Parts: sequence; structure tokens; C-alpha cells
Amino acid sequence: LARNPLNLEKIEPLDETGLRARVLTIDVEEWYHVNYVSADPSRIDTSVSTVYDNTMEILDILSRTGSKATFFVLGCVARTYPALVRAIDQNGHEIACHSDSHTLIYEQSASEFREDLKQAVGAISSQTGKKVIGFRAPSCSITDRNPWALDVLCEGGFLYDSSVFPIKNYMYGVANFPLRPCLLTTPKGSRLLEIPLPALDFGPLRIPFGGGVYLRMLPAILIRRLMSLAHSRGRAFMLYFHPSDIDTRHHKIQLSLRESFFHNVGRRGARQKIRSLLNDFKWTTISAAYSGHLRELRGV
Ligand SMILES: [Zn+2]
Repeated sequence: LARNPLNLEKIEPLDETGLRARVLTIDVEEWYHVNYVSADPSRIDTSVSTVYDNTMEILDILSRTGSKATFFVLGCVARTYPALVRAIDQNGHEIACHSDSHTLIYEQSASEFREDLKQAVGAISSQTGKKVIGFRAPSCSITDRNPWALDVLCEGGFLYDSSVFPIKNYMYGVANFPLRPCLLTTPKGSRLLEIPLPALDFGPLRIPFGGGVYLRMLPAILIRRLMSLAHSRGRAFMLYFHPSDIDTRHHKIQLSLRESFFHNVGRRGARQKIRSLLNDFKWTTISAAYSGHLRELRGV
């Protein structure tokens, strides 16, 4: 039997039932939490903080539209703005974890990652009193290089992960990973729900469209078209973005030509594009969309 794309024993894509939800996820981090290979962290001015204001604006929009979202919060943001964590929680959204310091996971050892997670979960749950069951890696840094990270998540009590980008590029991604959510069996035999980042296939071609640079780059009308195509194929649709994506001020980072394009493309239109997607559709959390599967993993 050929090894599957993440070098796991077993990957079972979920069936189509109940997968037509529109899931909204937001990675709560500062504008400078990037992992570009050409960035020089010592030359980024981290004294400008925008995460609080932008996230509060997102909460405001969601409370007007009645949608709910899963917020993947960085531990370091939770420590700086504990009131922000409480505000997200008190508005009825789900809080999950986006690591502590936004360090690439495949550049850490298992014990470093375990410690990073512990710090992050401590900072988040001390504000909400709730268990954190969901994780998203900084820059999709769970790949076929580090399937052990899934075991560290399971040991830490996590039930789902949303870190796998199902297309391989120069920095992240797993080629041929299923495009729909699946139940993984980790190298040590634990089970974890994986919700890969959104992409659609057209013959041999896979097109990512639900967040980050792809959301900024593609025209709004095409994104809506791909969303409804995903639904017609029985796929859940998940949108992901960052608080800084709705900011009218854009803070530049000195990068190589290629990464500068990834970082800056579509910035001007992103705010309006995201606001109209939030206004025009009803969104829900990961935990609500996959409640049945999560109950099964909890064994209740
Ligand atoms: Zn991030």
C-alpha cells in the first residue's frame, strides 16, 4: 500500500452529509506575524499594534449579521489583550489556538512545539475558563515533514486541526491531500479531525481560494462562484482571513520581489471584499459545523 500524503496510516475523508456549512475562521495575529523566508524580523517595527481594533471591528460586524466564527488566537496576543479574548468569547464565538509566537512548526522540535502550545493554551483558557480543542498552525506549517505535530496536538487534548494546505508550494502544503475534511489517524494511533484549507480541483489543477493571498488576489465574483461550486459538490466552504486584512492602513514589510507580491497583492480591495462576504452570508464555527464528528472523537 502506498503511503498516503501525510505519511499517516489512515486518512478517511468525511462523507458529504452535513458538509454544506459556511465556516468562518479568523487568525488573530498582528500585521507583522508573518513567516516569509525573505523577511528580516529585526527590521520590522513591531511597536505598531492593530490587532485589537481590527478584531473588535470584526466582532461588531458579526454581531450585526448574527454570524459566528472560530477565532484562532495567538498566545502572545491573548497575553497582551486578555480583554479581547473575553470579548470574542462573550460574543458567543469559538476560540481556538494559532500557536503562541507564530513560529513555523516544522522548524521546531516536538518538545519545543509542546511547550509553545502549553503557553498559548494557558494564555487563552485563563481568560475563558474553557478547553481549547482546535488548532491552526502558523503559515500552514504542518506538512509531510512533521506528522508528529499531530500527535503533540492529540496529547494536548486537541480534537481538530485546520493547518493542512492541500497544495504544495515553496513554503508549505501537502500535495494530493484530500480536499474535504477528514479523520486522521496519527503516527501514534490517535484520531484527529482535519479541516484542510479550502481549494477546488479542476482536472489535475487545484485552485486555492478561501483566504490569505488567494482571497485578496481573486476577484470577488470568482470567489463567490467557487464558493457555490464547492457547495454544489457537497463540500463545506471555509473562509479564513486575518484582522489586518480589513485594515485601511497597510504596513509594509521589506521582502523579496516574489514575497512582496504575495504580501501586498489585493490589499486595497480586501476590506470591501471581506465585509461583503460577511454581510451577504450566514457563517458558523468549526465546532458547530462538525459537532457530530467532534462528539464521536470525544467518545460521547
Ligand atoms: Zn498566522
